[in-house]
Amino acid sequence: MDINNIVKKGPLYSGKAKSIYEVDEDKVLIEFRDDITAGNGAKKDVKEGKGYLNALISSYLFKKLEENGVETHFIEYIEPNYMLAKRVEIIPIEVIVRNIAAGSLCRRYPFKEGEVLKRPIVQFDYKNDEYNDPMLNEDIAYNLGLATDEELKKMREIALKVNNILKKVFDDVGIDLVDFKIEIGRYKGKLVVADEISPDTMRLWDKETKDILDKDVFRKDLGDVIGKYKVVAKRLKLI
Ligand code: 5GP
Repeated sequence: MDINNIVKKGPLYSGKAKSIYEVDEDKVLIEFRDDITAGNGAKKDVKEGKGYLNALISSYLFKKLEENGVETHFIEYIEPNYMLAKRVEIIPIEVIVRNIAAGSLCRRYPFKEGEVLKRPIVQFDYKNDEYNDPMLNEDIAYNLGLATDEELKKMREIALKVNNILKKVFDDVGIDLVDFKIEIGRYKGKLVVADEISPDTMRLWDKETKDILDKDVFRKDLGDVIGKYKVVAKRLKLI
């Protein structure tokens, strides 16, 4: 499909790096912008080509999930930086899965950065900028009315399945999937993986060199972040 053939209304919502436009009552158009932020918007920049690379990588990973039996909001990639998706009701929980210790896990607990975890950690954070995305447990999530016990159980199952699929995708191209964050939405009575899956929302390390290929390059001022996202897209044979 051509972006010029889509009648978009809105935006319904404009976040830190994406804008969501209404297409019809059942579909939205997601625009991946070149904006990059870190620390809840404290650090900001614009990196040309980021929107394109993230739309491309996200679309590819959603397709992989679908091929492996995980339902997602993905409908179609639209050049250069758009994705057509089902309109879902996002559950405001950041579902994080970790295979290797890094980031906030090492700041909050005595894990050594780079330590391979005995088993994956599934973590639920409340998606709430005002409260700085605090970690949830099932009772807090339930009492805040974010999700039912049954949904939380299903979200954990989805998260672990997504982890197995993505770990293999990256393993095959010489990259370690350190951790990632997904968002899950309600669609016609089912839970589907929504939002984006890109180097903005994952930690990816080169298996051999341990080179960082994700947004930590921007968060920690480690150099050319777009160059690293291009490495990921190239390894996945997308560019
Ligand atoms: P951490 O809790 O260590 O900061 O993040 C764990 C993983 O989830 C990382 O891959 C990180 O990119 C992702 N993640 C967690 N919270 C957010 C968030 O608010 N925004 C984005 N883009 N990624 C997040």
